[in-house]
Amino acid sequence: PSPPNSAFGECPVAATPHIVLFPSAGMGHLVPFTRLAVALSAGHCCDVSLVTALPTVSSAESRHIAALSAAFPTVRRTDMDLRLAPFDASAEFPAADPFYVRYEALRRSAPLLLGPLLAGASALVADIALASVAIPVARELHVPCYVFFTASATMLSLKAYFPTYLDASGAGHGRGVGDVDVPGVYRVPSSSVPQALHDPDNIFTRQFVANGRALVAADGLLVNAFEAMEPEAVAALRGGAVVAGLPPVFAVGPLTPVKLGEAGQEQGNYRTWLDAQPRRSVVYVSFGSRKALARQQIRELAAGLEACGHRFLWVVKGAVVDRDDAGELSDLLGDGEGFFLRRVKGRGLVTKSWVEQDEVLRHPAVGLFVSHCGWNSVTEAASSGVPVLAWPRFADQRVNARVAVRAGLGVWVERWSWEGEEAVVTAEEIAEQVVAAMGDEAVAEKAASVRESAARAVADGGTSHRSLAEFVRRCRAEP
Ligand code: UDP
Ligand code: UDP
Repeated sequence: PSPPNSAFGECPVAATPHIVLFPSAGMGHLVPFTRLAVALSAGHCCDVSLVTALPTVSSAESRHIAALSAAFPTVRRTDMDLRLAPFDASAEFPAADPFYVRYEALRRSAPLLLGPLLAGASALVADIALASVAIPVARELHVPCYVFFTASATMLSLKAYFPTYLDASGAGHGRGVGDVDVPGVYRVPSSSVPQALHDPDNIFTRQFVANGRALVAADGLLVNAFEAMEPEAVAALRGGAVVAGLPPVFAVGPLTPVKLGEAGQEQGNYRTWLDAQPRRSVVYVSFGSRKALARQQIRELAAGLEACGHRFLWVVKGAVVDRDDAGELSDLLGDGEGFFLRRVKGRGLVTKSWVEQDEVLRHPAVGLFVSHCGWNSVTEAASSGVPVLAWPRFADQRVNARVAVRAGLGVWVERWSWEGEEAVVTAEEIAEQVVAAMGDEAVAEKAASVRESAARAVADGGTSHRSLAEFVRRCRAEP
């Protein structure tokens, strides 16, 4: 790891302002927060503290935090001990997603524990999942509060508009959620609305709606998106079309990945393997950090990758939380005898370990990304210009997949099922689409042009660079 600030030059004065970053849980939130932390600290000479809630839900998060501290000691850590404000999650939310339960624990702890961490702060930047509880704490202490939305600007528009939609449609009171026509953005089909939002009592829905209503009370909204990729959504958010009275929107993405070296040596064999593969010959397959495909679907995917005939690097997950993912790879694949792994040996690499995804996507051997379209994955594909074969599975991913496709970053087979739908996508279909996408020169060219526009956005003078500088300027100017 490079010494702090070396890539950016030295800060001329003592780092100021002091910005406190408050992420929620899961790598999908922590990763963009640490990218923001480094951009502010090393790139814009701010004094940055990162609030960490220990213990973390996944071991990937704790490794990431340790690696960040080692590589960027100037990003200060302030640990929040959740045991000080306990709540009995298993009693209240017996079957809920552990990451959503953690959001809830943080939300209940914030009023008690957050205040002391804000002493002397110029601004608080709270994760979207914590917005409605963080804003009042900051307000009481006269600290400006910004909200960081870690997904697409289009998803932010759905989130901001959703409470209005509920109030007007009566959905949730015995009526289901239909298509949601977000003013100035697009009509989100009911089938693309995050699964949880169809249930008004779901823990996620309650948080989502409370946070959506709170956005107008924030001092500003940061989003890991850039104008050229989502022009309508950014304009509609800024122009008041989505919801009147939103604060300034700072589109600061795609935030630059930080090299932390989290994938340990023993897991690093994929690097040597990738180095040995021809240019643009490898299909990289990953469904993110926090969801497993159903076993039957994993088997079809295995057969599909084998049948497609291309080289592939496939990161498989067996559980929602990595600590629970103790099973053998061959069992997960339904390949007890190891026949599949032997058949694809040399041509396909399958791993259950953490890979440095950004590095994989930037590797010249990679030609296609079969992705669940978690927003960080989409931003990384955009920055590296790797075309995406979108296979959204959950939450905001169908909204993100549409954004990716509209921007020219790839293709999405919309009939492919996601969580909660029973249909299994067959090996034949998967192989057919992978072959088509690997051979699609037009998609590859468009993806390369998305990479160019992403690079322009974050370069000096680009829209995202200026947006982040403007955010810092405001933090400096605040009392
Ligand atoms: N990631 C990674 N290696 C892995 C799995 C995930 O580096 O083996 C990173 C990925 O690059 C991204 C983040 O973890 O930055 C996952 O966020 P995303 O929004 O794509 O999906 P989520 O995991 O939240 O569903
Ligand atoms: N989200 C939100 N409000 C919340 C919690 C999450 O708008 O109270 C957003 C989040 O930024 C993302 C989507 O809802 O766009 C799905 O959230 P989740 O935390 O599941 O993201 P993941 O961890 O799957 O990336």
